[in-house]
Amino acid sequence: TPFPVEILTLFPDFFDGPLRISLTGKAIERGHFSVNCVDIRDFTHDKHRTCDDVPYGGGAGMVMKPEPLVAALESARERHPGVPRILMSPQGEPFSQKIARELAQGPGMILVCGRYEGVDERVRQHWIDREISIGDYVLTGGEVASMVVIDAVTRLLPGVLGNQESISEESFSAPMLEYPQYTRPREFRGFEVPEILLSGDHGRVAKWRQEQALARTKERRPDLLERRDASPDSQSES
Ligand code: SAM
Repeated sequence: TPFPVEILTLFPDFFDGPLRISLTGKAIERGHFSVNCVDIRDFTHDKHRTCDDVPYGGGAGMVMKPEPLVAALESARERHPGVPRILMSPQGEPFSQKIARELAQGPGMILVCGRYEGVDERVRQHWIDREISIGDYVLTGGEVASMVVIDAVTRLLPGVLGNQESISEESFSAPMLEYPQYTRPREFRGFEVPEILLSGDHGRVAKWRQEQALARTKERRPDLLERRDASPDSQSES
């Protein structure tokens, strides 16, 4: 059965096109995962289909009302018992390749996209299993953030990428940045592909790539190497 992805949002149109494109589109067609967009507004009962209200205590902005959101969460949970309910939030744990790998282990994801000033705190406390932030900046809504999570997680599902090696070699699996990649033509506007990649010597190529990856990581993201030194078993995570 496909890995279920349920997206709870006030803007289901957001997801119509993008997920059907390229690798994710093919993975859905091939049944590796399924996407169901739930319009939170469908769980309202008033004429105006109200999903937000003013904050208790005053202040700027609106807050997502608990009733429709919790009803939407309960309906998603009924379809997929035991699937983690994940709130997209700038206050969540910083998203990483490690979290993507964890989530790809299954059993699926129910993603809640916030809007306005976010959701009522009681929903967060009692109906959410995990909160994820995609970075230290504030978006208008959780839709783009959930797209990031869906993209990073679903490409790790078994069978989605043709070449499983490309997963274990790429950036962060070590955790290190990836070596530089080249394709044809061999000379482009006077710039050559490094000679060693044309040598056909797989041993030397592998060694060169390793050196390049290390140098690049040292230069751009020394923090990744420090983290690795700090936890001796992080290498085996890949
Ligand atoms: N007032 C909220 C706060 O300071 O935490 C920010 C709300 S933000 C304008 C609206 C929604 O966008 C959030 O509920 C969340 O779902 C989403 N969002 C914003 N920034 C995000 C981030 N960095 N990562 C994940 N989701 C984010």
